[in-house]
Amino acid sequence: MSPRLIDTHCHVDHLDGDPSLALAEARALGVGAFVLPTITPAMWPSAAALAAAHPDVHLGLGLHPCALDDLSDAEVDDALDDLPRLIALHGAVALGEIGLDHRAARDDERLARQRRVFERQLTIALEAGLPPIIHCVEAHGLMLEVWSRHPCGGNLPGVLHAFTGSAEMVARYCRAGLFISFAGPITWPGALKPAAACRAVPDDRLLIETDAPYQSPHPHRGSPNSPDRLPLIAAKVAEVRGASVDAIAALTTENARRLFGLG
Ligand SMILES: [Zn+2]
Repeated sequence: MSPRLIDTHCHVDHLDGDPSLALAEARALGVGAFVLPTITPAMWPSAAALAAAHPDVHLGLGLHPCALDDLSDAEVDDALDDLPRLIALHGAVALGEIGLDHRAARDDERLARQRRVFERQLTIALEAGLPPIIHCVEAHGLMLEVWSRHPCGGNLPGVLHAFTGSAEMVARYCRAGLFISFAGPITWPGALKPAAACRAVPDDRLLIETDAPYQSPHPHRGSPNSPDRLPLIAAKVAEVRGASVDAIAALTTENARRLFGLG
């Protein structure tokens, strides 16, 4: 029997075709639950409806740093003012995805705005008692600084999703109370840095995800991703850690249940 895996980051609402079919195909390969993170307030209602229609799809609500350019300060404020109510209404299990993207920011002013919005969402996460799902691109130093200074740091677990940083950063993030999740890039040929980072994650902080429809694992790189490819990522994580797939499935599933409070 296939091990039961949890896809801790799957944009079910962005998948090609009928999401119900994609979910069914993933379930048939042993993916037992999915966390659906959101990007921007306009997508919150449809994602919430999708999660409500599928009991094994668990909702994250958040404002992604890369969506900020399309929103005015007033629109951001209105959305975040309403976010605590929506979290309760829809039974969200996470704040996400939120974070810092230095590549997308392009300048200090945009990065400072990302930081303000991220910090405000961390406060909402803390008040709701929900783990943040964190997107971080080319901003790991700043991320650690923000996380450590915020009241969240040390008081709330969270996850660095689709991690592509170094093994040294893994150690620092784990000391700061965070989980580390690996996606398709760890399977890409020649991906030595993610493999080294993956080996550095303690058993009780390791997660896996597809980030579908993005970041397809090998040999599907370049084509739209789907959650039925999570077993490819689990197999690669098992290989680089010298563990069995069953062992990786068991511990990542237990970690995901603990982090997101899944039954
Ligand atoms: Zn994502």
